[in-house]
Amino acid sequence: MPNDAKGAPESAHITNFIKQRIEADLASGKYAQRRWGGHPGKLEAHAAAPLDPAKIRTRFPPEPNGYLHIGHAKSVCLNFGLAQEYGGVCHMRFDDTNPEKEEVEYVESIKEMVKWLGFDFGPGDNVLFFASDYFDLMYEFAECLIEHGDAYVDSQPADEMARNRGSFTEPGKDSPFRERTPAENLALFREMRDGKHADGAHVLRAKIDMASPNINLRDPAIYRIKRATHHRTGDKWCIYPMYTYAHPIEDALENITHSICTLEFEDQRPFYDWLLEKLATHGKLQRPLPQQIEFSRLNLTHTVMSKRFLLKLVQEGFVEGWDDPRMPTLAGARRRGFTPEGFRAFADRVGVSKSDGWIDPSVLEDCMREHLNELAPRRIAVLDPLKLVITNYPEGQSEECFAPNHPQKADWGKRAMPFSRELWIEREDFQEAPVKGFFRLYPGNTVRLKYGFVVKCTGCTKDASGRVVEVQCEYHADSKSGTPGADTYKTKGVIHWVSAAGRV
Ligand code: ATP
Ligand code: MG
Repeated sequence: MPNDAKGAPESAHITNFIKQRIEADLASGKYAQRRWGGHPGKLEAHAAAPLDPAKIRTRFPPEPNGYLHIGHAKSVCLNFGLAQEYGGVCHMRFDDTNPEKEEVEYVESIKEMVKWLGFDFGPGDNVLFFASDYFDLMYEFAECLIEHGDAYVDSQPADEMARNRGSFTEPGKDSPFRERTPAENLALFREMRDGKHADGAHVLRAKIDMASPNINLRDPAIYRIKRATHHRTGDKWCIYPMYTYAHPIEDALENITHSICTLEFEDQRPFYDWLLEKLATHGKLQRPLPQQIEFSRLNLTHTVMSKRFLLKLVQEGFVEGWDDPRMPTLAGARRRGFTPEGFRAFADRVGVSKSDGWIDPSVLEDCMREHLNELAPRRIAVLDPLKLVITNYPEGQSEECFAPNHPQKADWGKRAMPFSRELWIEREDFQEAPVKGFFRLYPGNTVRLKYGFVVKCTGCTKDASGRVVEVQCEYHADSKSGTPGADTYKTKGVIHWVSAAGRV
């Protein structure tokens, strides 16, 4: 069942390496034998969305440790968009394996923003998942690895463990605890779970190869002791799985077909595959297994997009909150007037690639502008006001001028703009001594006030510091826009304005 009834996204006709992979997998029937039950019975009941074995499943897996930002929008549109395009399903999954930094507030805001972007999680949130729901299974799988000699409890102090990991140029060294027997490991791991050891006293590590050229395969930690209250499981656990261990298992349990992530996880892929292969071999997971596919993250120039730094801005009070309009969060962008349609168009426009690049924020703004251009009724505002006095317009009088609500959509009608003796114009639209090529207001020049009258500048007034505080002009009473003969006045400049009456 697609996540969204809106049908295929605009990008449906554009191909990329991820789509090519999906199409090849669909053509070869790779996922056609898929059945529910990565673990018997567990998820079948949970996921009311029927598993069509021939359909792809993707997921969007944020960690609930901050608000979503513009970079996440790319990932949301990609994962949910691919599911829509191929008639598959995208899971909304919270990767909540790190209890210290995670909060319910973040979960709620992330759900809200994914929905705002135009995607849903099925009726009754049936494709909404939490990694913490699998803590029991993850634990069970860890015991399974221990029993098969694929994991061991390491009791080296953290600094020693780090030293013995080696470097890019030097292989690591085996821990003195590496040859503990499965029975010893199991007993210790259970003690860790039961709270018998201090935080950091031991870790559970996958037993792979301390000399691997890929540092991520040098016996990575998969469980650590951490006494922290989890926002969903409370104090049930004092050991928590590491992200790199949890994530592949989450994908496999949810029958994800294509696990799409950003390039920094490329070096983790061998561990992803190692772990799932082991668990499948030991009968805990069924094949075909999910595959990880990496794409380059979205980087916007002049834009901080790391939750760690955004959190600092919020916590240290530089902004008013995560949804401050100056923030590059989706909540902030929404307050700034950005639209979901604009974000989806942006995701299509930047596309998917394997090479890291930088995008200028103007690309995003263009996408918003294109959408808002269609959508937004026009209004006039003066941002840096300078008073304009129409000296031959009677004091106390006012009349209406009419402006179209949309320049290309006559059926949107017109709105009345009060015109009176005193108006505000933009300060930059006046120059006392005009530079060459300046066609707007300067003494002696004639311009049209947009949708209003033609005026001729007669002078200006300055304050003691020499700053212009008022501009004077005279209007032509028969030049009102839209009246017969008004266009006989030819002017080079057209400037916008608002009435000063009734405003401070
Ligand atoms: P940050 O680095 O800002 O803290 P993160 O990657 O830690 O972000 P997650 O919550 O793990 O945040 O991200 C959820 C998903 O969004 C991941 O699949 C991640 O790859 C993707 N994602 C995060 N940032 C970007 C980005 N700039 N461009 C594209 N995808 C992104
Ligand atoms: Mg991250």
